[in-house]
Amino acid sequence: MRLKNVPGSREAMEESIYVITEPEGEKGTWKTRSGGRPLQIEVGMGKGKFLMELAARNPDIYYVGIEKYSSVLIRAVEKQQIQKLPNVIFVRMDAEAITDVFEPGEVDKIYLNFSDPWPKDRHAKRRLTSVQFLNRYDRILAPDGTVEFKTDNADLFRFSLEQAEAAGWTVTAHTFDLHRDPELSAGNVMTEYEERFSAMGNPIHKMIIRR
Ligand code: SAM
Repeated sequence: MRLKNVPGSREAMEESIYVITEPEGEKGTWKTRSGGRPLQIEVGMGKGKFLMELAARNPDIYYVGIEKYSSVLIRAVEKQQIQKLPNVIFVRMDAEAITDVFEPGEVDKIYLNFSDPWPKDRHAKRRLTSVQFLNRYDRILAPDGTVEFKTDNADLFRFSLEQAEAAGWTVTAHTFDLHRDPELSAGNVMTEYEERFSAMGNPIHKMIIRR
């Protein structure tokens, strides 16, 4: 993804009441923050459209959006400054450190949407659906927790199905054309990238996995 630097965004995120920039201190406190509601996170949330639509639809669920770059996150914060959804918080961090931020079993569901493909083999472990990341999710997810992944990238999707199997997860559902799958598309909330790529005619792939 090409990233436009937004001058001052780092400082703005550090000052925002909607962003946690030093999240390690939150480990073990998320259920208190959520008021006992189920906790769902999106890793690599980008500008936050998907997460904020889910939060508006589901006030009984608490959502945490994780994003590495302040220059991207600032767009979600701008939306939240207007909407002030009570059940959303953003965390600026690299998801590689996710097990430092959530206790075992603290997270009920993880969403991965249009994750960066990292096409070079030597970067495979940076893909958010690699065995290395699945092992991290395994450590923070509740026993019946799930990971839901959407992408239009067929190579990344095939890789992700293989990695799920290699890491000992079960694929409970998958489709290579989400928008034509009546069951899996029910209640689907489109992400920014999903809108862009499906408008270009790209089929959207989705998998749901659990341990
Ligand atoms: N999920 C959004 C969507 O579907 O519209 C954005 C997709 S964009 C291609 C991928 C996003 O993931 C980028 O904003 C990128 O900064 C973020 N990202 C990639 N690797 C990450 C990591 N290790 N930790 C946190 N965020 C990450």
